[in-house]
Parts: sequence; C-alpha cells; structure tokens
Amino acid sequence: MLPGAHESIAGGLYRSIGRALDDGCESLQIFSKNSNRWEAKEISQEDAERFRAEAEKAGLGGITIHTSYLINIGSPNPVLWEKSVDALKVEVERAHILGIKYLVLHPGSHVGSGLENGIKRIAEGLNSVISETPDDVVILLENTAGQGTNIGHRFEHIADIMGRVDDEKRVAVCFDTCHAFAAGYDIRTEVSYGAVMDAFDDTIGLDRLRVFHLNDSKTPLGSRKDRHEQIGDGEIGLEAFRLLMNDKRFRDTPGILETPPLPSGENSYKRNLAVLRGLIGKKERIEVKGQRTLI
Ligand code: ZN
Ligand code: MN
Ligand code: MN
Repeated sequence: MLPGAHESIAGGLYRSIGRALDDGCESLQIFSKNSNRWEAKEISQEDAERFRAEAEKAGLGGITIHTSYLINIGSPNPVLWEKSVDALKVEVERAHILGIKYLVLHPGSHVGSGLENGIKRIAEGLNSVISETPDDVVILLENTAGQGTNIGHRFEHIADIMGRVDDEKRVAVCFDTCHAFAAGYDIRTEVSYGAVMDAFDDTIGLDRLRVFHLNDSKTPLGSRKDRHEQIGDGEIGLEAFRLLMNDKRFRDTPGILETPPLPSGENSYKRNLAVLRGLIGKKERIEVKGQRTLI
C-alpha cells in the first residue's frame, strides 16, 4: 500500500503536492475544483504545467482526483442528469490536462426511481462521458455506504454498472473501507477480511481495484452511514488496516486518507500515516481486556 491523503488545493493546484510531501504521503488525492459548486475556473496552461512539474519532482506513487459531490449520473431528472454528465466530462478533461490517470466518482443515487433504473442511467452517463473524453483517464467507481438511495453499496451494483460500460478500460474501482464496513462488509478479522476480498474478486475482480480510501468508521457495521473516523479509533479498528497494509496484492495501490481534522483542529494525516506505517510487518493481534496490542 502507498499511504497518502486527500489534500487541499487552496492557493493553487500545485500547492497540494507540497502539503502531501509535508505530511509524508506516498500518494495523493485532490479535488480539481470546489467540490460543492458546478462551475469551475478553467485550468490555465501555466497552472497545469506547474502541477505536472511539481508532481513529477515529488515522485508520488499515485495521484487521483475526487469528483464534485453535486454530480449524480443516476438521477431520473433529465435536467440534472445532463448537467451531471456535462460536469463529469469537464472533470475528465481537467484530469487529462493535469496528467492524472484516476478520477474517483460516487456512482449515483436513484432518488426513488429504483435500483435498476438508477444503474441504467449511470451506465448511460458513463458511456456518454467516455465516448467524448480523452482515453488516458480512468473513472473509478467508489463503493458507497448506502445512505438514502445511493447506489454502489453492494459489489454487485458496481459489477453491473461496469458490465454495461462499452469501453471497459475506462472504468475501475476505488474501495473505501469506511463505506464498505457501513454497508455491511465486515473486514475486522483475518477470516472476514479474506471473505470480503474474495467476494470482491468474484463479483468485480481484484484487478479492477486501483485505489483505496483508508478511513475508520464512526458508525457500526451495516449502519449505512458515511461517517469517517481516525484510523484505529472507530468501529473498524486496527486489525483491518493491519491486514490491508500487509496484503501483498495491494503493495503498489494508493491508500488515501479522508479522515476528519482532529478535535484540536489539527490535520489528522500525519498521525494516521504513522499509525498505518506502524502496522507494517506486524503479525497478529492479541486482545487483553479490550486493549489492542500488536506484536
Ligand atoms: Zn468519495
Ligand atoms: Mn471515500
Ligand atoms: Mn465517505
């Protein structure tokens, strides 16, 4: 695993790289624009070149963009669907300009129109975007916690969507640990972790898993709530992250932290990266009166 974090682009896109290096990241995720707005200021040639140069100098193992939260290509409303598809095209163009290969997308919500209809809309949206954008950008469908009418909390949803995309090279998956756990996938023990990864492999294929989001969960297994927590402090606990950090299949896979700021207001990434790295090479967990000890 190449541990990293979602960093701010305040002050310029290239500034995110300095923040990542300062925190000790080996991978990086950014928003390429304000994630709560439709509009985006165009990326100038100069901005793009500066970002590419800094990224190359930093030698980060994987950079991803997370798309805007407003996009819903599962929408049954034709106006919102089209607006979302157009916004996603712009996001792909921006990734292309910045030389970033992976673009993380929440599959979408059916907003009461039903799962099958939502999946159909999402696949149509992806095919439209993919047919009109540069083919060096891969859209990563992120598994969701399953809040409300969100699609993508079952691996089968993601497999179904991917199966309907004409150009299969243009879609793959981002696996969020908090979302998977909240959706009911128990990764807390070696046996259950193995079973979840086998289920992923059987439905989607582990070769399609390109990026992890490493977040603990404030809410319990199957709660269907999306509440990120510091690594080891939540309902998932350290063992799942120990298994991930030592899983050779994911040796070169970016693992991005999306943890909230610490109560002190301090950035949580340095702390969580240290926790994650402390798990490397650890063999097993012994539990003494609720105290977790790694040996
Ligand atoms: Zn996300
Ligand atoms: Mn995520
Ligand atoms: Mn989330």
